[in-house]
Amino acid sequence: MAVIVQKYGGSSVADIPRLEHVARRIAATVRDGHRVVVVVSAMGNTTHALLALARRVSPHPGRRELDMLMSVGERITMALLSMAVADLGVPAVSFTGSQSGIITDDRHASARVLEVRPERIRSALDEGKVAIVAGFQGVSRSREVTTLGRGGSDTTAVALAAALGADLCEICSDVDGVFSADPHRVPEARHLDRLSWDEALALFRGGARVLHPEAVAFAAHHGITLRAVATRGSTGGTAVGQSREGLASRVVAVTVDPEVDRVTPGPEGLSALVDVLVRVQAPVRSVREDGILLDRRDFHDRDRVAWPDGSRLVPVCVATAVGPGCGQPDLLVAGARALEAAGLHVLGLEADHDRLSWILPEGCALDAERVLHKALVEETA
Ligand code: ASP
Ligand code: MG
Repeated sequence: MAVIVQKYGGSSVADIPRLEHVARRIAATVRDGHRVVVVVSAMGNTTHALLALARRVSPHPGRRELDMLMSVGERITMALLSMAVADLGVPAVSFTGSQSGIITDDRHASARVLEVRPERIRSALDEGKVAIVAGFQGVSRSREVTTLGRGGSDTTAVALAAALGADLCEICSDVDGVFSADPHRVPEARHLDRLSWDEALALFRGGARVLHPEAVAFAAHHGITLRAVATRGSTGGTAVGQSREGLASRVVAVTVDPEVDRVTPGPEGLSALVDVLVRVQAPVRSVREDGILLDRRDFHDRDRVAWPDGSRLVPVCVATAVGPGCGQPDLLVAGARALEAAGLHVLGLEADHDRLSWILPEGCALDAERVLHKALVEETA
């Protein structure tokens, strides 16, 4: 019998009625004849609330204790959901990350999955039960509880799908997959039926927060097709997998990240700057001769860093385009022209084999997304 992994995000389990809806969706999958492993996030904004509690106790809480605290959020969901599923007459059992055999390195708050030993999950499936797993967490070789970084439940789902040889890994949330831009901000955005792993990776690294980039990288590495679907009222969602035959259009999607810092090196040069960034474990997005881009959202110690003399940190935003035509310099120029014509000053450009990026002053993200979508997606389709 086929194994299906279903991951439910925080908004899909934010309250009891939603949790009960998820329980019914799981029961329906079981009745369709599948063996089901469920991975859950913390309910609603529980993770955020737990972090806020810690900050009230200590301005700089230790990372180990933070992991002990934050891993609780997902455990609440797993236990409640397991009860709700059982009440529908479908046997279910919940497991923590550690009980599921998710072995990680020991980098608290941003641990990487090293290995998965899902023995207990396999036994539960063999006994005809639904296994409900607390996402976002694992255990290190020294038996410490670790967490995988914000949004890490996606990674739990993909890691389990790989270890169990699952036929499908569904990532269920309140959006029905991936669009050519954020549909809340760009009404012209189109729904995408499928996306290659590379395109998805570049898009999510660029700022679109539909799936966790780490999870997509893991899926690509193990050849797992992901399906991002709406928990309620899906019309099919978006499949993320093998690249498509033929080039439908040159740019398939654009995204923006409003929370980026750009650090430029001082007289001591780039390596002195890189040295500092490595030491403070700064979340580096890209390194170039004329500056380094950092993810401000994950840069918790930003205000306490002793930068090399003369180096300068400027908040910026980054717009990114992905698609089979990316990597072509003419599109980079076309995008820059469209941005400048709309009065947005382009500070820098980056091109890779699978993405194009424009660096802009802070505060330009929303306009940049609309301008680039019009110029590169709507007008060239
Ligand atoms: N609850 C965690 C977070 O909010 C993990 C997740 O939802 O994937 O980041
Ligand atoms: Mg998420």
